[in-house]
Amino acid sequence: MTQLQHAQLHYNETGTPVSDLFDDVYFSNDNGLLETDYVFLQQNQLPDRWFAHPKDFFHIFETGFGTGLNFLLTWQRFREARAEGCGCKRLYFSSFEKYPLQKADLQQALTAWPALAELSAELIAAYPAAFPGPQRLWLDNGTVVLDLWLGDVNELLPQIPLQNKADAWYLDGFAPSKNPDMWQDSLFHGMFRLSQPGTTVSTFTSAGLVKRGLAAAGFAVQKIKGYGRKREMLVARHPESQVADQAQSQSALIIGAGLAGLCSAVMLHQAGWRVTVLCADSGPGESASQNRQGALYPNLHADYSLMSALSTQSFQFATQWYRRLQAELGFAVGWCGLLQLACTDELALRQQKIASRPSSLYQAVSATEASNIAGLRLPFSALYFPQAGWLCPQQICQTLTGWLQNQGVRFEFNCQVRSVTAGHAVSNQGDFSADQLILATGAQLTELWPSATLPQRKVRGQVSHLESEKMHGLKTVICHKGYITPADQGLHSVGATFDRQSPTPDLKDEDNQYNINLVNQVLSAPDWFSDVRVHSAKAGMRATVPDHLPLLGNHEGIWVLGALAARGLTWAPLLANSLNALLSDEPVALSLQQLKALRPDRFQPK
Ligand code: SAM
Repeated sequence: MTQLQHAQLHYNETGTPVSDLFDDVYFSNDNGLLETDYVFLQQNQLPDRWFAHPKDFFHIFETGFGTGLNFLLTWQRFREARAEGCGCKRLYFSSFEKYPLQKADLQQALTAWPALAELSAELIAAYPAAFPGPQRLWLDNGTVVLDLWLGDVNELLPQIPLQNKADAWYLDGFAPSKNPDMWQDSLFHGMFRLSQPGTTVSTFTSAGLVKRGLAAAGFAVQKIKGYGRKREMLVARHPESQVADQAQSQSALIIGAGLAGLCSAVMLHQAGWRVTVLCADSGPGESASQNRQGALYPNLHADYSLMSALSTQSFQFATQWYRRLQAELGFAVGWCGLLQLACTDELALRQQKIASRPSSLYQAVSATEASNIAGLRLPFSALYFPQAGWLCPQQICQTLTGWLQNQGVRFEFNCQVRSVTAGHAVSNQGDFSADQLILATGAQLTELWPSATLPQRKVRGQVSHLESEKMHGLKTVICHKGYITPADQGLHSVGATFDRQSPTPDLKDEDNQYNINLVNQVLSAPDWFSDVRVHSAKAGMRATVPDHLPLLGNHEGIWVLGALAARGLTWAPLLANSLNALLSDEPVALSLQQLKALRPDRFQPK
């Protein structure tokens, strides 16, 4: 993956944004809004199709997100159609963009459309840091899902999973004469691969190469009258018109009521599944998800590794999801930012490499700046993640369980599952069956599923809850070799041990001492840490696999979401959302390469 460049733009005499690189307008000089309506909405028979669509969701692909004008008008029309009672419940809008606008440029460009101001503000607030690959934005209470596939459409299109089939294509992009790279045969063939009976296409251009390209790929193409002074434009459709019915959502049995299981339960329940959750513990979030405060931040490597990309996507999705959930249901959070200290030479070098690629996700800060941000004196420079923070995983688990129970979702606690097969679980409370079975059992995965021969290891982790007057002023989460959180109800969480030997999560005094010693060792016994007292602690077993990536997918008919290690808070929302997409046959915001890298059978001999 290569680094993304932001768009450079200026405004012409009519106030229309123009790309410096392509010397072309983002939309018509005459009236961009009316042109979008005519070319993209009307020619794809929208909003009418939302009223007669056989599926719960409608999926539009666009080549060239630009200022998001096409998207915003489509969103607004979809909102109106929903208010008028259209059957479609969700709009998926997937848009490619190689040169994303900076947030400030987007903000400026969208001031031109006061009628779209409310939606523009929501888009701008959720607009992600530019990171190559898919970024899923969850808008309008989840009724509108925007997948920004950032990068070159020619490289990304073959990476889109087949289940992300389009109902309509907005073929935008600068004019073929100005940007021939974008209008290649591979684009038209890639579009056809992701089309199905009923799919339509429209584009402002009537260029011969586009017409021939679409036809050669398999579309039935037609020239029609263009918008305003433009003589012609193109529309196309899949040669077959019979639209497939939706895959019926059915029943799901989820084993495990930690973050992985509960996020999955919420996503599946919202997609119409009948969900049952079985859990060996006496309540939700009692194993690895039991912590008082967990940090939410992306795990960045020096390069654009698979881990960096996946974890950034997960982080950006998770922050949106938790913010919405918190506003609705309430639980303890601190959106206080996070400092990752450059406390070793290796880390300092890695941070330098990361910071050489500027991003709104992080800032490189000096030791003095880091100290000012934290409110305590720190001896190292750092990478600062302003959107990161801490949440209470156990409270989230309890809140989600309460909400799901109110919605009629069945929970069985103290339910020891002894064995599973596809769609079937045998437990001390009897046998359970469903159309699909999902294992979200954290560290218990290998006992329950020996046939998968997973190289999963259990790592015991203990977090100490410390009292301190001197640390009271801490304003942000600090990660060194361990981590320290700002106080919640007078207690700082300081952790965590990584113990591969202990088989049980019993609390140990020496582990509290280890956590305290680590801070003193790495940060040179700071004065603000000199009065700490251990109040209490928690320990749990985390599950990891050798490549440190999570497990997501199906093996032998059993679904799994696991190996979230110490990062369940970050991974769970996007991966649960992806699990639901895979099960419900809806667009998934992961590339084929990413799905392959997460497969639970990736460790099996080939
Ligand atoms: N639909 C946009 C709107 O509503 O504002 C306008 C799109 S503008 C005409 C074309 C967009 O295509 C630009 O934002 C440009 O950066 C993007 N683009 C150009 N070449 C690309 C490529 N190879 N892959 C993906 N996007 C590309």
